[in-house]
Amino acid sequence: MPYVVTEPCIGVKDKSCITVCPVDCIYEGDDMVYIHPDECIDCGLCEPECPVSAIFVDTDVPEQWHSYIEKNRIEAVKLSGG
Ligand code: SF4
Ligand code: SF4
Repeated sequence: MPYVVTEPCIGVKDKSCITVCPVDCIYEGDDMVYIHPDECIDCGLCEPECPVSAIFVDTDVPEQWHSYIEKNRIEAVKLSGG
């Protein structure tokens, strides 16, 4: 159950989550950051650090942001190179 970054990150992108992630699985895109679902170890450390509550475990992503689950995978895989 990886964590997922959703819409509120857009335009904020302060990278607090990147600072605390122990496995460096959060990648910076143009507008927001993305979590690589195969690299995330589900530690939950990033979630309380986000000033705009953009981070959710995938099973708790609000309905209107469900598309971000796949978007995190696609963009993080691209940005990580694999
Ligand atoms: S849950 Fe942990 S491993 Fe996953 S992105 Fe957040 S800080 Fe990184
Ligand atoms: S802490 Fe929240 S707003 Fe900041 S980069 Fe991470 S997801 Fe985006």
